[in-house]
Amino acid sequence: MSHTELIASLVPSGDILIGGEWRRGRGAPYTSIYPADQSANLEISTANADDARDAVEAADAAWRDANWSGLKPHQRALVLYRIADLIMQRHEALAQLQRRDNGKPIGETRVLVASAANTFRYFAACLETLDEDVTPSRGDYLTMSVHEPIGVVAAITPWNSPIASDAQKLAPALAAGNAVVLKPAEVTPLASLALARICEEAGVPKGVLSVLPGKGSVIGDALVRHPLVRKVSFTGGTTVGRSIARLAAEKLMPVSLELGGKSPTIVFDDADLDHSVNGVLYGIFSSSGEACIAGSRLFVQRSIYDTFMKRLAEGARKLRVGNPESDNTQMGPLISSQHRETVERYVALGLEEGGRLVCGGERPVGDNREQGFFYQPTILEGLTNSARICQEEIFGPVLVAMPFDDEASLIEQANDSVFGLAAGIWTRDYKRAYRTARALDAGTIWINTYKLFSISTPFSGWKESGMGREKGRLGIREYMRQKSLYWGLNDAPLPWAN
Ligand code: NAD
Repeated sequence: MSHTELIASLVPSGDILIGGEWRRGRGAPYTSIYPADQSANLEISTANADDARDAVEAADAAWRDANWSGLKPHQRALVLYRIADLIMQRHEALAQLQRRDNGKPIGETRVLVASAANTFRYFAACLETLDEDVTPSRGDYLTMSVHEPIGVVAAITPWNSPIASDAQKLAPALAAGNAVVLKPAEVTPLASLALARICEEAGVPKGVLSVLPGKGSVIGDALVRHPLVRKVSFTGGTTVGRSIARLAAEKLMPVSLELGGKSPTIVFDDADLDHSVNGVLYGIFSSSGEACIAGSRLFVQRSIYDTFMKRLAEGARKLRVGNPESDNTQMGPLISSQHRETVERYVALGLEEGGRLVCGGERPVGDNREQGFFYQPTILEGLTNSARICQEEIFGPVLVAMPFDDEASLIEQANDSVFGLAAGIWTRDYKRAYRTARALDAGTIWINTYKLFSISTPFSGWKESGMGREKGRLGIREYMRQKSLYWGLNDAPLPWAN
């Protein structure tokens, strides 16, 4: 099947979904391209601010209509299980679509699609098994605490793992009984549109889910400001996240923010060399470094620094950078030409700041890679943690390596960052691992592993890496409001009345 046939088989011919209707957006046309060779995927008409308003109004009506919010939990759960089943029935096709959408290697997109299905199953199960509380009574009354949907939720997602990040918002938000307006990143609309079609087929009622591809500064902004939107769940950069938090403060509206990172990976002198070298390479270079949790600052104990760096550079040079269609590929292209230029500017800045290139620092040549936005895995050293390329998120395949002498100075440097998303520790000494893990300012710590994810384990960024949480049983509560009920059980009048 050609890529145009593949896209046509998964993405409806209307370009945006509002109130159960596929229609043309009223924004500018946008051509989605394949970052590996710049061939066109599909031209779509994007949404504009009027479309955003219509979608929110349709979502509000659908939510009040109660044919979703009013279903019993097990009835909504059934629809979520069906969504998961349909995702898995189209697993390979969706993985190929996601590859075309953002250029990730097929091995990675297969994992992302399966993880999206798991996310729907997990929140269906949470929904069916979540208890409400009867709280201890302090008199002749009964008290209950129940949870209800919030109403219209705006879900705004980035381009690096569209189907998985969409599912992480849609599954708990829909499970909780909300209506959702999804705004995917401008450059990756395809997976979100295909997922919306699956949701429709699975029985999500009209209007409960709308999808608006297009510009964040137009549609995202219109959604956040709309008075009927009562919650925003955002994944993206810290700058946009902060501006959303400001607008939300005006409306006193809850927000969940999953933002950027600059995560440290720490290798102690007793670490298993093979595993830690592999783990560090995987932590920064998988997904071409376009991962919020990428381990982009490397701290290696000085006594093993030279040996470790030699092995690391050898490993980085051997990474297979190329065609995302191949099962063998480890790194695909970057998302766009502009993003690659940003990465290149950061590498140049690192060199100006006094850094030395250990490997990479250029575009690969041959095998048609000139057609796409490829960049070599790049390692710099000779910098301190205060360098700008150690402090600012690059979101590309660039690692800065630094030696450290003792635990105290290591913790100080590792925590010297505005971000606090994740960290990795490589050591055989479990006491040292525990001490270090507890001392690090980050929401997720991997010990002798990296980038492992489980839907049942909460994920949240500390400091400027975010607010709120995703995943885990309580992830669904982020999309609910709590209500307390008091039931009087005494036939006598209230004492005040006497
Ligand atoms: P981005 O902040 O530029 O955009 C994210 C989304 O917000 C897109 O859909 C975009 O269109 C929209 N947007 C842009 N301006 C907006 C505005 N003014 N109002 C409302 N919405 C707006 O981020 P990106 O470049 O798409 O993604 C990369 C960033 O995402 C990185 O910083 C990365 O660390 C972060 N990220 C974080 C996580 C996490 O879980 N913490 C996961 C993935 C990516």
